Amino acid sequence: MRLLTHNLLQCHVKGCSTNNYPLRVEATNVVHKEADFNPEFITHMLQKIEWNALRTTASALGVAELPEILPLSMEGQEELLKQIHLVLMETHIMDGKLVCPGCSHEYLVTHGVGNMLLIEDEV
Ligand SMILES: [Zn+2]
Repeated sequence: MRLLTHNLLQCHVKGCSTNNYPLRVEATNVVHKEADFNPEFITHMLQKIEWNALRTTASALGVAELPEILPLSMEGQEELLKQIHLVLMETHIMDGKLVCPGCSHEYLVTHGVGNMLLIEDEV
């Protein structure tokens, strides 16, 4: 699971609607896989992602220390874009779990795939 995907996930247990984002990553295996760098795509994705959640997660996983505030324009910010690319696209949570800060529900991640399904009495 890419951190890009993680950034878009929130807990969807019934009744869990506050403090349900971002899911805390407790990973036992995080890997780096090279991906083609596409600055336009990264710039575009910056409008969709939650920056603070990404920063916190990247820092907690020891992947990168991202700046607190993004520059107003990404024009000429090649180094920063590469750093964000590394975090969003090249960092994969392979095994571990994602824990909801609100209800403590645990979503397992196995072989890079997150199981976001809930059993019947949780929906
Ligand atoms: Zn929850």
